[in-house]
Amino acid sequence: MMELSRRKLLVAAGAAAAVVPAAHAAQDPSLSDNVPKKWDRTVKLLIVGAGGAGLTAAVSAAQNGLTDTLILEKMAYIGGNTAISGGGMNAVDPARQKPQGIEDSIENHYEQTLKGGDYRANPALVKELVENAPETVTWLESIGMKFKDKVYQVYGSLYPRGHAPLGSLGQDYIKVLVDQCKKYGIPIEKQARVVRIIRETPLKGKVLGVEYEKGGKLITVRATKAVVVAAGGFGANKKMRALHDPRLADLTTTNHPGATGDLLPLMVDVGADLTGMDFIQCNPGCPPGRTHRVPLHQGGRFIIVDRNGKRFIREDERRDVIRDAVLIQPKATAWGILDQTRFDMINQGQKDAAYKGLETGDAWKADTIEELAQKMGLPPAALKATVDEFNAGVKAGKDKLGKFQRNLFPIEKPPFWGAYVGMSVHHTMGGVVINTAAEVIDRRGEVIPNLYAAGEVTGGIHGANRLGGNAIADCLTFGRLVGKEIAEKKACMIDAQSESGPDVAIWIIVSSLTCVLGRYFG
Ligand code: FAD
Repeated sequence: MMELSRRKLLVAAGAAAAVVPAAHAAQDPSLSDNVPKKWDRTVKLLIVGAGGAGLTAAVSAAQNGLTDTLILEKMAYIGGNTAISGGGMNAVDPARQKPQGIEDSIENHYEQTLKGGDYRANPALVKELVENAPETVTWLESIGMKFKDKVYQVYGSLYPRGHAPLGSLGQDYIKVLVDQCKKYGIPIEKQARVVRIIRETPLKGKVLGVEYEKGGKLITVRATKAVVVAAGGFGANKKMRALHDPRLADLTTTNHPGATGDLLPLMVDVGADLTGMDFIQCNPGCPPGRTHRVPLHQGGRFIIVDRNGKRFIREDERRDVIRDAVLIQPKATAWGILDQTRFDMINQGQKDAAYKGLETGDAWKADTIEELAQKMGLPPAALKATVDEFNAGVKAGKDKLGKFQRNLFPIEKPPFWGAYVGMSVHHTMGGVVINTAAEVIDRRGEVIPNLYAAGEVTGGIHGANRLGGNAIADCLTFGRLVGKEIAEKKACMIDAQSESGPDVAIWIIVSSLTCVLGRYFG
């Protein structure tokens, strides 16, 4: 009996070895010299980046029982691009859509997301996103987030399923999530820049923790359960975006200055694979050489003209199509025009940018189209003819360039407003390869144990072109799911550096078998 048990144990040990190579690697004397002998700090969950994805992951993990978490944020402020975003979040939501007469479905959202990205996204990730985004809305509401009753069609999207925060756009999410972090006692350490991911050996074994720089000192943190990278995109990194799309080197950006993609090379250093790095999105902004951005484009309700005062692109076209059409204009510059009725419909932040633009020379206002043209340096008669032709199309319900009926509004009520339409880098669709459990995948297609990523730092979710409103949905949905996933994850990998002895060996075997069985039958 005893003998049988021992044999069973050995077989089990073999199975354990197959699923816990990292535990053995950790005991291996060839463990990389890069692994600290002594760590400065130890937590269970380490999150890189206090933006939408990172904060959501922390709160979701805490709700599921994992609160020993540390969030590292390199900037002196919290929120990243999420905080400065318009906050529009796509999710199928019959309770809001039906009263507005909008028929929608998960399949519709799925198909539009794939098509909008030229079928270059990973369908499994898109499915994960669209199926779980509705629950993310209700989850957010359950922790205090408030959305407007009506959904809307976010600029650059294909359908009215955008949820608008009730208060201060993207900042609303951050306020709610930070309050939750306080509630669960999760520290967010600011001005703490992650500079290294530490793996057992450079390309093998599990990820053990990170090293970060704070106040000129390097500090190591052991993360016994997982490292989640939620460090955002690289829209503000000129060199990185020029490497992947040289046309974008000198463009301005809508992003916060911390969106520099620091974690991408760090993840590559430990074996991670990247995808779609040249899928880089632009939005109307200020042309190269100028610094103040006046976004008049919300809802695509303006018209865009070239230096001859002529329209050259359907203003509610896909973002990448507009980008390419504007970038080939002389000095990569065009102009946007709308009337006071449409101006009244943009949000306060956009209005404030326009008022400031009147002072900086980036926006103009006039009582007639001809006067506006003069101020903007465009040919007055040509611009007047363009506006007249557009208005006639609106009246007839048919636009010459095929603008959607729902975006056809006349330009008729003075004063008229104009602003530069340059291209500003807005979103980076490419990033690290993940699977549907948000585990980071290496260049051989294998999971890097204990390394997860969520949000704009990941690739494969949007394909060649992201639909407006899908990024917030992506960051918060994958953030929510990854937090839960890690909290519920059985401790498949034991920290062999800090524990040893026969009881531990038996624990490894039992927990490994539980994990194996859980995977097949759970
Ligand atoms: P972020 O929110 O950017 O957070 C990443 C954090 O990681 C940052 O705080 C950053 O400082 C930190 N970090 C980076 N490197 C390090 C490091 N080395 N160490 C520690 N911390 C680090 N999408 C929509 O769907 N709807 C919209 O209406 C919308 N509007 C937008 C408007 C603007 C102006 C912008 C710029 C974007 C908008 N987007 C919108 C896109 C969307 O906001 C972003 O894709 C999303 O918020 C990214 O979330 P994230 O959590 O991945 O990254």
